[in-house]
Amino acid sequence: GNIATNAGGNRAVKYGTTRHQVYSVEVVNPTGRIVNLGARLQKQSTGYCLDQLIIGSEGTLGIITKATLKLLPKPKYALDLLAIFDDRQKAMGVVTKIIKAGITPTCVEFMDNITIKSVEKYLNESLQGSDHGNYVIVEVEGTSEDDLDDKAVTLDEVCTANGASSVLVADHNKIWQARKAFAEAVRAESLIVCKEDVVVPVDQEAALLDEILHLAKKYNLVTRIASHAGDGNIHLNILKNEDATYEDWDARVKANQQELYKFIYAHGGRLSGEHGIGYKRKQLMEEFTDPGELEMMKAVKKALDPNDILNPGKIFDLDD
Ligand SMILES: Cc1cc2nc3c(=O)[nH]c(=O)nc-3n(C[C@H](O)[C@H](O)[C@H](O)COP(=O)(O)OP(=O)(O)OC[C@H]3O[C@@H](n4cnc5c(N)ncnc54)[C@H](O)[C@@H]3O)c2cc1C
Repeated sequence: GNIATNAGGNRAVKYGTTRHQVYSVEVVNPTGRIVNLGARLQKQSTGYCLDQLIIGSEGTLGIITKATLKLLPKPKYALDLLAIFDDRQKAMGVVTKIIKAGITPTCVEFMDNITIKSVEKYLNESLQGSDHGNYVIVEVEGTSEDDLDDKAVTLDEVCTANGASSVLVADHNKIWQARKAFAEAVRAESLIVCKEDVVVPVDQEAALLDEILHLAKKYNLVTRIASHAGDGNIHLNILKNEDATYEDWDARVKANQQELYKFIYAHGGRLSGEHGIGYKRKQLMEEFTDPGELEMMKAVKKALDPNDILNPGKIFDLDD
């Protein structure tokens, strides 16, 4: 399932997503043949890259029965820094500055103030800077304690120069507990939520955050935002306003979606960074994907699965 969805986590900044960790896959294709795609090679230039076509295809092109994965030694030294910013845009804008300073973080995560407050309430614990701060959590790995110290100094300088009111070494368990409680905290606030998983190039992320906030105001939306800021993937949760009917809220969410997705595609982004399309987003995928690209995807599906038996109706519907 991980390979079929090309799942990606917060360490994608340094390590990429699942597809970057796979050498080859064994696949039962829709006509019943067992094929091995890809190879345990650092390089090859031998025809189409079919292993990568299968990875992320959401079970529509073949059933993965075996995989050869890349393994890396576990890093010995790692450090989490928490930078707290009063200004959301400055917080988001620090990501490109960190990369330009020559640091390759393992992850850079962002949480806005209202989301921190929501998590604080859910965990029933006080979180640093929760009165008006926005979080940027940076995890870095190093080759030694000294190397880590050097990176921490650089990160401190970059974050402070970009508007952080404080930068501190964070307690790993505590800070990640707060970040990972995001989904549960939102769920505790409302069971009716629209979850967006939008992604843009990292240097467009501050502009996207601006647009999200602008549209939220325009459509009177209650938002909670956490993002994998290091890779441009923003998780925008829109909670149903307590005093609104479902129909009214849903109409505003859909109007917001139209404007938001137009913005995202105009800025080189896509509508899903890691959650995929499935059944839920296929209408929007049809609407916003380049028609030529969609046509090629459908042609591949028809060629490999002529009887449309593997996850029919996922990602897109085939034309009659
Ligand atoms: C609470 C929660 C948090 C999540 N957080 C993240 C996240 O942070 N990042 C992220 O990227 N994803 C996230 N996801 C999605 C998650 O990564 C994927 O749902 C998961 O990796 C899929 O693995 P699974 O084994 O559960 O597959 P399933 O859910 O069983 O299947 C997922 C899809 O893959 C297909 N599939 C399953 N097995 C195979 C196979 N052997 N061959 C071909 N197709 C197959 C299924 O048909 C289906 O379309 C989250 C999901 C949940 C529920």
